[in-house]
Amino acid sequence: MLSIEINGEVFGWSLTRSKRRTVGMVFDAGAIRVRAPRWVSVSEIESILRSKHRWVRARHLEWRDQEQRRLEPAQQWHDGATLPFLGQTCSIRLLAGVERVTWVADRAELLLPLSGAASAEQIRDMAHSWLQQQAKGILQERLETLAEQSGRAFSRFSLSHAKTRWGSCTVDGHIRLNWRLIQFSLCVIDYVVAHELAHLRTMDHSPGFWAEVGSILPNFEEGKALIRRAPLEPIR
Ligand SMILES: [Zn+2]
Repeated sequence: MLSIEINGEVFGWSLTRSKRRTVGMVFDAGAIRVRAPRWVSVSEIESILRSKHRWVRARHLEWRDQEQRRLEPAQQWHDGATLPFLGQTCSIRLLAGVERVTWVADRAELLLPLSGAASAEQIRDMAHSWLQQQAKGILQERLETLAEQSGRAFSRFSLSHAKTRWGSCTVDGHIRLNWRLIQFSLCVIDYVVAHELAHLRTMDHSPGFWAEVGSILPNFEEGKALIRRAPLEPIR
């Protein structure tokens, strides 16, 4: 997925090169799908997207609302509730006695310094902020490692809170990765990282793009298949 920033908001788009003579745009599954002839550059397409800012924004907002409603019933927040973390199922434990949020790896337990009377919202906020902290460190580490191994250079990394996409890359090399990727095993995380790194050289999803993903991460198919079956936003 490509992304473009307009007036401080980030929108997803994808590019397919075609034999048509003009640039066509449709909104589908959370992103603008652009079909354009080869001789129209990515920066020309970006300026068309900017000129259609109102349409782009309206379609994205509608989509976000629909997704929100579709995914509403999900994560429970109480003592003993389970949570996906790095491909494992971990349990939440409320323990007023612990000093800070503590991860007990061998029991896959997340201990939260809260009393049994804590509200679902307090539990969620504390768990979310711990998960986001983990995501920042782990996603950045995977991105740096795969970039270095494959000789690719991105310009910037940030954690994204997007509702409709796992990752994105701008033409100037800014890679955003969704903090909710932290629920998945490393093979899924590495696939998304390799996908976005591949967009540094190839903006579309042509066979050349998938060859590029394969040269960054040879066994990417497993992670790709796993994330395709996942709902977009299961940690709430
Ligand atoms: Zn993509």
